[in-house]
Amino acid sequence: MNVDFPTRIGFDEAAAIIDRVARERRLAPERIPLQRGLGRVLADDLVAPIGLPNFDNAAMDGFAVRGLPMPDAGWELVGEQFAGTDRGLVLQTGQGSRITTGAPLPAGADAILIKENARVEGDRLFTDTPPAMRQHIRRAGEDVEAGTRLLAAGDVLTPARIGLAAALGLPELSVARRPTVAVFTTGDELRPPGQALAPGEIHDSNRALLQTLLVAEGLEPVAWPILPDDPARIAAMLEDAAFSFDLVITCGGVSAGEKDHLPALLQARGETYFWKVRMKPGMPLLFGRLGDALLLGLPGNPVSVLATFLTLGRRLVDGLQGRVEPRSRWRAKLALPVDKRHERLEFMRGRLQVDASGQLQVQPDPATGSHRLAAAAGNDVLLVLPEGAGHFPAGSVVDCLPSSSGRG
Ligand code: AMP
Ligand code: MG
Repeated sequence: MNVDFPTRIGFDEAAAIIDRVARERRLAPERIPLQRGLGRVLADDLVAPIGLPNFDNAAMDGFAVRGLPMPDAGWELVGEQFAGTDRGLVLQTGQGSRITTGAPLPAGADAILIKENARVEGDRLFTDTPPAMRQHIRRAGEDVEAGTRLLAAGDVLTPARIGLAAALGLPELSVARRPTVAVFTTGDELRPPGQALAPGEIHDSNRALLQTLLVAEGLEPVAWPILPDDPARIAAMLEDAAFSFDLVITCGGVSAGEKDHLPALLQARGETYFWKVRMKPGMPLLFGRLGDALLLGLPGNPVSVLATFLTLGRRLVDGLQGRVEPRSRWRAKLALPVDKRHERLEFMRGRLQVDASGQLQVQPDPATGSHRLAAAAGNDVLLVLPEGAGHFPAGSVVDCLPSSSGRG
């Protein structure tokens, strides 16, 4: 193949190309109701239209009192203020009023005497454990001052952030539209699970793997029937999908075998942004444009699908939505030495554990073959071994990417 695109590039270069393309093709914002916001990426900053709390109020059930220490004759009980309507109570020195959690603080109140510590005798109120000045009072604006920028465009919505928006009185938020994704698996040897295998055939595991990786990102992927290794059929189906989806993700058919048709197809009918990344697993990764859609061609081996999607594929999905919050990464000590005999950046499967002193340790899995799906299923992180051959003694600190999203 006559190559006029970057090939055999480093992982960081691939990431930079993905970031650039994603920036150029940033998806438009849309407004959504809060309850549909989980995991969505904010398109605008979130600036507080009101303060929180929006008025001084009681943090406990009991009595608002004015005058500390307690007057010898106790406080005179006047009125009640429950959560709801502000009755505009005003306390004079030596007075107290019944109050519930969240109720507006009567003017002049110094503190809340909690119910458990209070004794009412007729219209007088006594205690053996008086509150300190301002105790159990929530001050207006102590959590949020009106006008504060609480979240920035590119931040991801969590339940607490969605609750915060609701507290601020916002019924909707502006978030990036999510990419629509078409998923294809390719290979004459593939049969869907549930069908009997003829000699030489295997079950298509990548479709379910890739679909659920996408679902874990909140996407709603649409999967096509398995594509045979027939370049005309592949081209027709992918071009069809490219009409109506933002992103087409394939797996298989991207390396150098007789039946690996995707790189030539993309070069002839679309545009290739890169092919082959110096990473292990996942070297033959292909990225480009077909029609109006982006095309990400993942390698066929299941562990390569996992590693390329969780690193570069997810980066693309994040970038298209303008996400700026980085994905979580742990730093952990290798529990065993690792000899790395190749130059590529490696995402090795591993298991996190906490050692006796409370430090994170990662147990690298010796089953490194990119077909070893059971090994990947038994682990919970991809540990990152940087480019270059080398010996990593036990105790060296490595980055670890969580790889079992959905397990909690
Ligand atoms: P390929 O890149 O198409 O040569 O595929 C590389 C390896 O991954 C081969 O052993 C394929 O049989 C295997 N493979 C490709 N696609 C799938 C799939 N959807 N499910 C399981 N294994 C696959
Ligand atoms: Mg194949």
